[in-house]
Amino acid sequence: MRHGDTGDMGIKRIISTVLLTTVTLMILNPKCGYSQEKKFDLIIRNGTVYDGTGGEARHADLAILGERIAGIGDFSGVPAAKVIDARGLVVAPGFIDIHTHSDFNPFLQPGSPHKLLQGVTTEVAGNCGMSAAPLIGDMREKVFEVWQREGVAIPEHVPTWDSVGEYLEALERAGLLTNFVFLVGHGNLRWSVMKDASRKASPEESKEMEGLLRQSIAEGAFGLSLGLVYLPGTYAGKDELIGLAKTLKESDSLLTVHMRSEGRRLIESVDEVLEIAEASGTRLEISHLKAAGFKNWQKIDPALRRIEDAKQKGFEVFGDVYPYEAAFAELGVILPEEIYEAPDRVALLKNPEKRSELKRLTQKELDESGSIPEQFMIAAVKLSKHKSYEGKTLAEIAKMEGKDPLDALFDLLAEENFLVSAFSFSQDPAVVKHIAQKEYVSIGSDNMSDFGPKPHPRTYGTFPRFLQWVRDGKVVPLSDAIRKMTGLPADVLGLSDRGRIREGEYADIVIFDLAKIESPATYEDPKEYARGVEWVLVNGAVVVEQGKYNGRFAGQVLRKKGRE
Ligand SMILES: [Zn+2]
Repeated sequence: MRHGDTGDMGIKRIISTVLLTTVTLMILNPKCGYSQEKKFDLIIRNGTVYDGTGGEARHADLAILGERIAGIGDFSGVPAAKVIDARGLVVAPGFIDIHTHSDFNPFLQPGSPHKLLQGVTTEVAGNCGMSAAPLIGDMREKVFEVWQREGVAIPEHVPTWDSVGEYLEALERAGLLTNFVFLVGHGNLRWSVMKDASRKASPEESKEMEGLLRQSIAEGAFGLSLGLVYLPGTYAGKDELIGLAKTLKESDSLLTVHMRSEGRRLIESVDEVLEIAEASGTRLEISHLKAAGFKNWQKIDPALRRIEDAKQKGFEVFGDVYPYEAAFAELGVILPEEIYEAPDRVALLKNPEKRSELKRLTQKELDESGSIPEQFMIAAVKLSKHKSYEGKTLAEIAKMEGKDPLDALFDLLAEENFLVSAFSFSQDPAVVKHIAQKEYVSIGSDNMSDFGPKPHPRTYGTFPRFLQWVRDGKVVPLSDAIRKMTGLPADVLGLSDRGRIREGEYADIVIFDLAKIESPATYEDPKEYARGVEWVLVNGAVVVEQGKYNGRFAGQVLRKKGRE
């Protein structure tokens, strides 16, 4: 989709553009070996080019023709319809955000350039076991209900679809700013086949899920996502998961996993997903790798060692990380399961006779997960009387109200009917950087679909923030950092002609100023656009010019079958 390409161009401009682009040139340049007739739509001159493979930078020009990169080398003196002077700037493949929940974004926030202004040209949606498709029968209500609990309100105007194929077509009709890769959520398959069943799948049910997965991949999905900590993923047994992973292997598709635990049972959870990868031979991406809760920070090295042992044995295991120390969730998830999942949980929290027992259970849960009230900062509430809580920690709210922190927590959840989102500062920044240094770890934002009033700042800032870390803290060399956002995720996804600067690849390109790159988005003011990304091309079309989004929708739905 290329909205506004010719727009209201005057006839003179059309003629001069036609003249320029149709001029054919005999280029005799031994430096880059172009000796045949060439005509280019765009030349990016004088940039410092990182090709996305982790290799050293080189000073070179890039020539673009149509949607593709036509040449890399010295094109001085060669005219083109458009020229970008990238002197002093970094030229890299457009960033691939391998972990997002942007499934509904093209309908909810059409035209929002928060990703393009970070240099992102491809987003991967459908993660953590819950995706926008397939939505068969009454699943639409069911899925919307789950997203609602996560703080995402899906408005009426969002079109309807059943299958992955229909969903991808609806996205195309809506228009996309970035390219779009889709994963099927395991929860969607399970609900389609088993409805609400809170048990393991029978062999017949597993077969049916595998069939639906095969169909979804044939319609364009790149793989399957698991959310083993969420319903209904928590009920899945090993046979069901290995069966689905083997189905992925048939088409060399990807398995991504939000593990059962990222804290207390981190190591066991890593073992569980490695067992699935080893039994099936399927390529595995462990989503948002982390060690949550200060008592668990030291578990990261044994966990990473297990991943590296599996890699050593020849299994394809990868991970991604977001460069922030806070996670984002509903505040209620810090309660123990028996309270959080109780059907009458609001009444339970309001019952004064039950309070002391509930506090004891919750304190035990906090202690075991290595959590403290200081680490939870309220992101957003619904009731106006609680607005002053936003940006404050549970400990600060308790002090303001003269209450015990757990009383403050229970009162807030009960009054808000659990509709409270929070940042959980559960990670050690040093551990986050340590994970990000691993050569098998990509950068992924983990943003939600609807921003709400207070999204996690990673929605607006993941990629520039990581580049800030690289520039200021030397976490990894810049060539490696760029690979983690381009060539590595492209390999993990099986994208053969994106994510690298190479002749013949799609011209998804970011041009940024390393000295100026930054994300001003904070937990208090998260909706601040990134700075320092000067130019972005999506499928050869310029969409960001001198730091400003120009309104074009140049993204495409990428399909596993067919194009890739
Ligand atoms: Zn997740």
